[in-house]
Amino acid sequence: MDCIFCDIVSGSVPNHTVYQDENFLAFLDIFPHAKGHTVLIPKAHRDNFAVLTDEETSGLALAIKKAMEKVQMVLNPDGFNVGWNEDPAGGQVVPHLHVHIFPRYNGDGGGSMHSIIKNPSQTPVNELAKKFV
Ligand code: 5GP
Ligand code: ZN
Repeated sequence: MDCIFCDIVSGSVPNHTVYQDENFLAFLDIFPHAKGHTVLIPKAHRDNFAVLTDEETSGLALAIKKAMEKVQMVLNPDGFNVGWNEDPAGGQVVPHLHVHIFPRYNGDGGGSMHSIIKNPSQTPVNELAKKFV
């Protein structure tokens, strides 16, 4: 399969590694949105978060924490935004799951997760809630 992130895992495309373990690799984003913007990927190709096994999901959470600790140690940011774009509707461009780790710095001018989308349902929350029961 033609996948830029699989090519990074195989070493045919170079990367600046932030953290890795047996199953996950974190490296600096080539077009950073913040100082130390890091992407963390499973070394095995996975299209998105939805296809991960429970075991892979647990490993991912631990790898995120370890990568954040490394960024904290090296760059000493004041906070983070951590998340991923799931599927094209969520903004995913590279079709190999990758978690964005954005270090945040006081006064950096960035927003919060809430600035990604403002398109609430016309249905009131208490009506929508009935679908979840
Ligand atoms: P997406 O929009 O799919 O969530 O994000 C893909 C991310 O991968 C982008 O932030 C982009 O800059 C990064 N990226 C794409 N190709 C490369 C590459 O070859 N090397 C690195 N380090 N990052 C890449
Ligand atoms: Zn891949």
